[in-house]
Amino acid sequence: MDFEAVFKKYKEGSIAGRYITNNHIEPLLKKLSDDFKVGIIGQSVKEKPIYSVRFGNGEKKIFMWSQMHGNESTTTKALFDLFNFLSSNEEDAKIIKESFTLLIIPILNPDGAEAYTRVNANEVDLNRDSVDLSQPEAQLLRKAFEDFKPDYCFNLHDQRTIFAAGETRNPATVSFLSPAYDEEREYNDCRLKAVDVIVAMNDELQKHIPNQIGRFDDSFNLNCIGDRFQSLGVPTILFEAGHYQDDYQREETRKYIFISYLTALKSICSNVVVERDLESYLNIPQNKSLFFDFLYKNIKIKTNSLDIISNFAAHYREILVDGKVNFEAYIVETGDSITNFGHVEFDGKGGIYSDKLNNIPEINKKADFSININIEFVNGIRKNL
Ligand SMILES: [Zn+2]
Repeated sequence: MDFEAVFKKYKEGSIAGRYITNNHIEPLLKKLSDDFKVGIIGQSVKEKPIYSVRFGNGEKKIFMWSQMHGNESTTTKALFDLFNFLSSNEEDAKIIKESFTLLIIPILNPDGAEAYTRVNANEVDLNRDSVDLSQPEAQLLRKAFEDFKPDYCFNLHDQRTIFAAGETRNPATVSFLSPAYDEEREYNDCRLKAVDVIVAMNDELQKHIPNQIGRFDDSFNLNCIGDRFQSLGVPTILFEAGHYQDDYQREETRKYIFISYLTALKSICSNVVVERDLESYLNIPQNKSLFFDFLYKNIKIKTNSLDIISNFAAHYREILVDGKVNFEAYIVETGDSITNFGHVEFDGKGGIYSDKLNNIPEINKKADFSININIEFVNGIRKNL
């Protein structure tokens, strides 16, 4: 399959960027064909509907949920691209329809989606509520899981720009995990089934984004939903949509998530008895927290007592303003011991730092400054290049 062409053809053009809420998806849910059954599984803390979409009448049951963390929308965008594909007459769409029953919750945390927060309206991280089930959204997810009795679960998230695929300068554009089901982090048949699907997705993605696929940390925490469902005997796969070069809107990453969905379904569908391939899975490099959004090196800082040559780094903060996510760069670390990389790096070659305050780069300051007066940086980015 020519995934790039297929994505282009079926990409849902009406949603883009990072801010995706019920308001954005409701018109799309209304438009879905009769092949899709749209339902409401219940309500959020602020009484917003939590929608579900059911597709297909096949034997294998796949349960997927996105935006459990409200500000993680890339996998949601890719779900609507997938729906467009499934509505088509493509051979693979027909096969998926006959082979699978999909139950999909596009936005599990609609309050967090609207407020652009990770947590729900009670400020609870729903991915740490799988044992207590203290929140309505976590309860509804659990009930849907128990009623549906899936053969596989896809747990859909975004990850921060900090992650590299291994000890490299390659951003982890997509990461996966087959979560542990016990403290010993052993591999049983259930966990290995999820591993097989990840190996298939990794094999495909390597053709598109070589060396930019990571394996997420598998520390065991039963409060995390993936660990919980895996411990209940259902193979569960964590998807993490991450950073692609210069793609802060995650429109490029969205494509790789779409490719991952289709590859995963095709691999589960193919029914080929695979040789358990744990080694290929373990060869996917582990995610490492190695990136800043910006790194400025060899900058001369003049203080009262002495001049020093040092480094500093900045990260974007994502701030919701009038229904749009603004990216505002703030200094987060200073000092010559910085060893991490920057997605953007600038070598000051000893140039003198200045800003409109005290001419010292400090944590929590906006990244608006100059080097040697004439090289100006606004919101982290060099002007007049
Ligand atoms: Zn998340």
